[in-house]
Amino acid sequence: MNSETWRSRAEAVIPGGVSSNVRLSAPRTCFTRGSGARLFDVDGREYVDYLLGQGPAFLGHGHPEVTAAVAEATSRGMVFGAQHTLEIEAAEALVEAIGWAEQVRFGVSGTESDQGALRLARAATGRRRVLRFSGTYHGWLDNVLIDFQAGPTSPASEGQSEASLSEWIVVPFNDRTAVENAFAEHGEHIAAVIVEPVMCNNGVIRAAPGFLELLRSLCTRNGSLLIFDEVITGFRLARGGAAEFFGVTPDLAVYGKAVAGGWPVSAMAGSKELMDLIASGRVNHSGTFNASTMAAAAVLATQKVLREQPPYDGIAAHSATLTTGLAEIAERHGLPLAIQGVNAAFHLGIPKDPASASPATCYEELAGLDLARYARLSHRFAEEGLWVAGRGVWYISAAHNASDAEKALEAFEAVVSKDA
Ligand code: PLP
Repeated sequence: MNSETWRSRAEAVIPGGVSSNVRLSAPRTCFTRGSGARLFDVDGREYVDYLLGQGPAFLGHGHPEVTAAVAEATSRGMVFGAQHTLEIEAAEALVEAIGWAEQVRFGVSGTESDQGALRLARAATGRRRVLRFSGTYHGWLDNVLIDFQAGPTSPASEGQSEASLSEWIVVPFNDRTAVENAFAEHGEHIAAVIVEPVMCNNGVIRAAPGFLELLRSLCTRNGSLLIFDEVITGFRLARGGAAEFFGVTPDLAVYGKAVAGGWPVSAMAGSKELMDLIASGRVNHSGTFNASTMAAAAVLATQKVLREQPPYDGIAAHSATLTTGLAEIAERHGLPLAIQGVNAAFHLGIPKDPASASPATCYEELAGLDLARYARLSHRFAEEGLWVAGRGVWYISAAHNASDAEKALEAFEAVVSKDA
């Protein structure tokens, strides 16, 4: 049975044939398995994967140590409605890796752990307003989902309750003056600033030098909490995530994706003092599947791999090979290309005006890129065996090797040479 047949079957029983709206615009290949940095579909085709399932497969697909640890743990049962030893060891491993945090609470998705952090910040400060940046994503729930193109606090979905969207204060990323003005105007009402230190969901835009430090000092001065949404950056930029990479310490952070080698796990981290609000029951944080044996085993095994075989230098070298190769191919074929980001995640954009290919510093500046053209190209990359996100981000894993880069560059050139 080929992808097309599977697609019809999918569309009959799953809305849009997909289980997350993020996948609605992706090519409708039907995969059978992934191994390392490769994916295999029902049509017998092989892909080099720079999407990593939107980020989680940071160690590559089916990492043997993680897979074995999960299988062993699962064989002993999965959820007990009480603590188990792996859960405690996994929490210890995260506290050690994160460095600045004293405690962690496990969840299943980044969306829900972001909710926990926002609730905790409001409870700790007794305030309601939260400052965030246009273009950021903190999950798909009613109180956080915004269509920034429609307006700073516009809902992004039909059926979405808009009741709490007015609690946001939204300013452009990296805009120091806007942040300072927001604090000058609303400081005493701001419970928290929540920020993706690298805005991976839109443009892979890094915080400019000094920007996170500014947020840190404004939060401290105004009695607000600084929350790093490290769902993408955690364990990917460095073992200690963006906090280590940028040398700025938040009050709370949220992790997901790479934390457990692809298993559905998230965590929020912070000081014991803040987490005591949860410990005392004043702040509710719950979840049947939190810290299942398989989740805890996956966290433990993933963190062991990251500690004992840190992939960061290899990823930096791979990233340099790829970005140099992509830029060189684009130039040879006359395709304007703006590349920006960090080693483990970078963004490719096609500037509408080839003369102004300077990196975007905020969501608003992404309007200078032809995002629709790149999205179209991404479907053609898939036809050549290169699996990437339609919105321009490329994720690099610990499993990528020289032949993966070679295949990716060949596929890129095959498409670009016909398009430019
Ligand atoms: N926060 C950020 C920065 C994310 O990128 C995502 C997902 O892409 C989330 C939160 C939500 O995580 P999840 O999809 O696991 O609910």
